[in-house]
Amino acid sequence: MRERTAVYPGSFDPLTNGHLDIIGRASGLCDRLVLAVLVNEEKKALFSVEERIAMIRENVRAPQGTALEVRQFSGLLVEFAEKVGARIIVRGLRAVSDFEYEFQMALMNRRLSPQVETVFLMAKEEYSYVSSRLVKEVARLGGDVRGLTPDSVAQALRERFRRP
Ligand code: ADP
Repeated sequence: MRERTAVYPGSFDPLTNGHLDIIGRASGLCDRLVLAVLVNEEKKALFSVEERIAMIRENVRAPQGTALEVRQFSGLLVEFAEKVGARIIVRGLRAVSDFEYEFQMALMNRRLSPQVETVFLMAKEEYSYVSSRLVKEVARLGGDVRGLTPDSVAQALRERFRRP
């Protein structure tokens, strides 16, 4: 049978436990999962693409039977998906607020590349409000984000926002 490859794209700025949950679920659905770290927002990102990739490599373990790759990408997602041989795009859904944007992107990507299917996964309820944006905001204001991100990410956030 043909190998089933999925791509999970995102900014991962930084990796959260919500992302980890989605990665775990997606791994169960494919033979090869490519985590695609977006680079074109570089100016707005808190962590460089190298730092984001290092955080993922340090904290993500693929279950047995699934090959996991971490790559950076820019440009059209469907072109990247084709390049890595993926016919599945994985996205996570939190609340209704995610829906409209995700719906538009999924339909646009289908128009651009009809053979690529987008699938949506929900993380555990306890992570349903966790976003990289919110985690950064809380960390910037000195709040504790342990339990919402891997420990090393919480530590990196503390260091990044440490007051002089
Ligand atoms: P964020 O939206 O957290 O700033 P990304 O752009 O890296 O981060 O998100 C990549 C994908 O992961 C998106 O599809 C997003 O909806 C999904 N995602 C992120 N956090 C969660 C979560 N807590 N639960 C479900 N999906 C999530």
